[in-house]
Amino acid sequence: MALIVQKYGGTSVGTPERIQAVAERVLKWRAQGHQLVVVVSAMSGETNRLIALATAVTADPDPRELDQMVSTGEQVTIALLAMALQSRGAPARSYTGAQVAVRTDKAYTKARIEHIDVERMQKDLQSGRIVIVAGFQGVDDEGNITTLGRGGSDTTGVALAAALKADECQIYTDVDGVYTTDPRVVPQARRLERITFEEMLEMASLGSKVLQIRSVEFAGKYNVPLRVLSSFAEGGAGTLITVDSEESMEQPVISGIAFNRDEAKFTVRGVPDIPGVAFRILGPVGQANIEVDMIVQNVAADNTTDFTFTVHRNDYRKVLSILEQVSRDVGAKEVTADDKIAKVSLVGVGMRSHAGVASQMFATLAHENINIQMISTSEIKISVVLQEKYMELAVRALHTAFGLDSVGVV
Ligand code: ADP
Ligand code: ASP
Ligand code: MG
Repeated sequence: MALIVQKYGGTSVGTPERIQAVAERVLKWRAQGHQLVVVVSAMSGETNRLIALATAVTADPDPRELDQMVSTGEQVTIALLAMALQSRGAPARSYTGAQVAVRTDKAYTKARIEHIDVERMQKDLQSGRIVIVAGFQGVDDEGNITTLGRGGSDTTGVALAAALKADECQIYTDVDGVYTTDPRVVPQARRLERITFEEMLEMASLGSKVLQIRSVEFAGKYNVPLRVLSSFAEGGAGTLITVDSEESMEQPVISGIAFNRDEAKFTVRGVPDIPGVAFRILGPVGQANIEVDMIVQNVAADNTTDFTFTVHRNDYRKVLSILEQVSRDVGAKEVTADDKIAKVSLVGVGMRSHAGVASQMFATLAHENINIQMISTSEIKISVVLQEKYMELAVRALHTAFGLDSVGVV
């Protein structure tokens, strides 16, 4: 007998029929003698609908009230799943994040889990109940409801598995595993049997939204056996997220390609090239609590520099107005901004022992006539920024060039 935490995403609980199907799946695992804790998301589209309601009332909703409201999506699905299980004769009980309790800090809309009380769940499990917990939400030490950021139900699932010392955490979604890249963009993408935590963390951080970043961090930190599976297909093995690859000899250089269109790029041109310039430009951006991703600085022959960086696209307007002031202060010639960019990244632990990945990447993009605007590298990834309209072409070309296409799909 094992203790299994299962998490079902929005599409997997998107209709009453889908919820019935989840109940059937849960019961199948229970029939094999396992104890089950089930985390569910809101029905697909529901969280977006709720956020749109808030922004229809005010352009700038109070984060506490936003969490108070947005958390209701999951409260619906937990109860529906409990009903579906009970109607099949199975004892089940649903809990909100606050009822468990999933204790978080006070950072509304992006709260971090600090502690999970397991006693109540353990008691239920011991008495034979199936425990159902609302994903994406928690409660701070003053009883305020918090949420964990978009996609946060993954993190609830993994955090519960860690707290309960579960034997496995299964993430059920609308694809049957983690692929070499988003299969909706590249039909030739291939399912990975396994991927390391390290690679999965990079993939998630660089835009693959199949797992929330925080959930991968948690799984790595607490060594939670984590598997991504389809809630639509039967019996597949999905993708196992592992500590290290057992078949490192056969490890491909590149495991996957991630991409995102979430960023905007700014260039401050013609800044005098003197000490302190980077700080004078990025200091005010940091003070406004805006995270900077990539940074490039070029020095021209006339002793001026062009300073380019990217931030999340949501911060576009804020950064633009900060830079207007900053460029006057530092005596820059001009500021240009572009929110039609995309970032494409190759990820693979195999890169550590292989030279030439970057040059093959650049050659592939050059062959497609795609201009690279910025480059950044780490031990296991290479990212480039390019014009958004070339993103899909770039991802497909790189997928083929690095031998990731599945055989037999055209
Ligand atoms: P859920 O609602 O179940 O949490 P998500 O929409 O958050 O599901 O995540 C699943 C989606 O992630 C898939 O439908 C797929 O389009 C997308 N995705 C992006 N990158 C990948 C990848 N490398 N492998 C698999 N799916 C990916
Ligand atoms: N319902 C939340 C969202 O849409 C959390 C989740 O689905 O994981 O972001
Ligand atoms: Mg998700």
